[in-house]
Amino acid sequence: ARLNRLIEQRRHLVGPTAMLFYDEPLQLVKGEGVWLYDSAGKRYLDAYNNVPVLGHCHPRVMDAVTAQMSQLNIHTRYLDDALHRYAQQLLSTLPLKQGRLVMTCTGSEANDLALRLARLHTGQQGVIVSAAAYHGNTQAVTDVSPSSLKRGQVPAYVACIDLEPLNTEGIDASAYLDQQVEAAIAQLQRDGYGCAAFLVDSIFSSDGVYADPPGMLKAAAARVQRAGGLLIADEVQPGFGRTGSNLWGFDRHQLSPDIVTFGKPMGNGYPVAALAADETLLAELAEVSGYFNTFGGSSVAVAAAQAVLDTLDEEALQANALSTGNRLKQGLQGLAEHYEPLSHVRGAGLFIGVDIVSSEDPTRPDSVLCSRIVNGLRQRGVLIGAAGRYGNVLKIRPPLCFNHDHAQHLLDALEQVMAQDLI
Ligand code: PMP
Repeated sequence: ARLNRLIEQRRHLVGPTAMLFYDEPLQLVKGEGVWLYDSAGKRYLDAYNNVPVLGHCHPRVMDAVTAQMSQLNIHTRYLDDALHRYAQQLLSTLPLKQGRLVMTCTGSEANDLALRLARLHTGQQGVIVSAAAYHGNTQAVTDVSPSSLKRGQVPAYVACIDLEPLNTEGIDASAYLDQQVEAAIAQLQRDGYGCAAFLVDSIFSSDGVYADPPGMLKAAAARVQRAGGLLIADEVQPGFGRTGSNLWGFDRHQLSPDIVTFGKPMGNGYPVAALAADETLLAELAEVSGYFNTFGGSSVAVAAAQAVLDTLDEEALQANALSTGNRLKQGLQGLAEHYEPLSHVRGAGLFIGVDIVSSEDPTRPDSVLCSRIVNGLRQRGVLIGAAGRYGNVLKIRPPLCFNHDHAQHLLDALEQVMAQDLI
């Protein structure tokens, strides 16, 4: 009754643009590490949220934020040593020649700015994205986010590449993606938009997780750059060590992006995001307009972001993502051998996707069953999500402090759902 009252209240008070997760929505009151607690005191293993990259309410970030908040919180129109230190550390991990950092509050703002830079620099309008991409919520980035357009129709200056064939046995992923991008560039040129950018989340989070083989995006990205378009690496999902083998998703594919955007995990829950690009690109924008973001790069934001970088390193979380991710993938592959609807276990580090297909016809995506599994896991105290064009991909993306015991906990719960709950 209490839950129904809350749902009803929300309907009257909160806009209908954001959906709630789960048939029985959750009211969470506390987070700690990989665990979340609801208002009845029940705990849930969080295998879904990539914002708390260090774990929920990590003491290092809380301490840094509260200490800075009680001393000073001011914006970037004043000199700030701490910002310089952070920028230097972050930029030193990127392959930009004269890299500069612009701090924002959200990934959407960073991608919005990236598109402005790319269009200004190239004089072109066209953008290439993946067919179920999500890049944010401003007008400009919504238009290049097919997954958030309910009617599915992207504007004519957007060309999409289809990733599903990457699941085909024996496919040459690199040649396939190169071909898709070649067709996308041709389409944009034919329609008079030209190619300003290839905006790519290299783990393809909302398309349903397509990670392998490493290097598969190299030829496609190089083709865009040869055609005069900019490569924008959206690291909001794969960044900060999540894929295990590299700090950045684009590095896993040996790409040389012109612009890199960051978000979600960057502040472990404090809203911090950023864009990095060469000085020359940013100077072009500075000539036509300013860009100031009141809260982007504020003293507190920088304190949170610095604590994240330091802790990722100190707690060796990237290495843990690789080791736990491999263990989890192996376990999921084991389950897929027993349970027909689980298919195509894939991913990198602690970013894993599993297709849910119909038991009668394994070529058919089964979004209804996928939703039953996600809800079944929620009832059993494990939180994961669903993604992909057909909503039939289990998306597993826990905080990077997820260890082998947590992985086993998830596997046991999934096995129970498959063996007991779905009958
Ligand atoms: N890019 C990607 C790949 C994302 O997944 C998201 C958020 N889901 C964004 C950008 C937008 O970030 P934000 O919600 O912080 O604006």
